[in-house]
Amino acid sequence: MLRALAIVLVLSVAAFAALWSFGVVGLPGASPPAAEAAPVAVLLDAAESGDPAAARLALDGGAPLDGADPFGRTALMLAAAGGHDDALRVLLAAGADVHARSETGWTALMFAADAAPTASTTLLLLNAGSDPHVADAEGRRALELAAGNAGVRGSGLWSRLEELTDWPASLRELRGGEAFARGWPSAYLVPIDGATISSRASHLPGAPRAYRNGTHEGFDFYDGTVSVEIAYGTPQRAAASGEVIRADVDYRELDQAGYDALIDSAVGSLDTPPEVLDALRGRQVWIRHAGGFVTRYAHLSGVAEGIVAGAPVMQGAVIGFTGNSGTSEAVQGTEDGPHPHVELWRGDERYLGQGLEPAEIYAIAAQVFGLEALPPFTDGGLRF
Ligand SMILES: [Zn+2]
Repeated sequence: MLRALAIVLVLSVAAFAALWSFGVVGLPGASPPAAEAAPVAVLLDAAESGDPAAARLALDGGAPLDGADPFGRTALMLAAAGGHDDALRVLLAAGADVHARSETGWTALMFAADAAPTASTTLLLLNAGSDPHVADAEGRRALELAAGNAGVRGSGLWSRLEELTDWPASLRELRGGEAFARGWPSAYLVPIDGATISSRASHLPGAPRAYRNGTHEGFDFYDGTVSVEIAYGTPQRAAASGEVIRADVDYRELDQAGYDALIDSAVGSLDTPPEVLDALRGRQVWIRHAGGFVTRYAHLSGVAEGIVAGAPVMQGAVIGFTGNSGTSEAVQGTEDGPHPHVELWRGDERYLGQGLEPAEIYAIAAQVFGLEALPPFTDGGLRF
């Protein structure tokens, strides 16, 4: 009798799931979708089968981006579990919530760590701002789940995931006890091989720039301050994979009169006007990454081949070469003072370091670029 009841129960759940997946029945408490909107099941199917075109179509048709199946799994989670990076990129570009959790408390990152066949999926979700500290009811985080996944465990990402998960207490304190700075990515690369972030506060984002009555918005990598040699022409790499959204291939250097006019207009303002600041960044490449983050590489002497607006770019690919474009040295026709200048933006609203003290910037930069990116010593008051 009990067994029969169990079978009936299983069958009715299956029937419900089937009807639900065809959009015939709704879940209790869920508001009915608009008549013309694609049901969430269409998007979930596209994500689970790893079909980016179908996912885009479903979204265009009005399917709810963060809608879930009866187990609380969103399209992002299903794409993550299958290792479907292309579908994942479509969902992330549409703004899918990386912090959403399933009925079992798993995030998309945890699904990827557990089941995606290669580490690229986990990397993509870390780059998109996923929090590796989220744990399920059994205390398992992405790290514990990835321990059983050879695709992640055997990859170069593993040590980075370990580092992010077992975060030094000193860095934790700087974030008011928060183990992870939500709203910022992780597992990025420092764009210059072997370089550390400068130990000088004046090279950090948020530093004042009196000559133009403004504020510095990036990390400067000057020779002698970043652990490796920096020269005119030193290659720079994409901090994370993404899409090139700006590449100043046909850049022409400012002349002295033009440069002076820019500085004059900045000095006459309360802050550096955006168009002036843009000109002073010289030749630039901008890359949009998963999760809506953008990196900007400024003062370049050249743009690497194939780096044009709209081109996809892989993490670690050379995107351009160090120069001094947009600076007074370049205007005077010299190759003096070459330095990478790298900014990290959340959309176009906030740059990493905005309004923060140097110690806080180092703490977040360590999450983004890895502990190895921190200078051996700093004047930001940090001691490791
Ligand atoms: Zn700079």
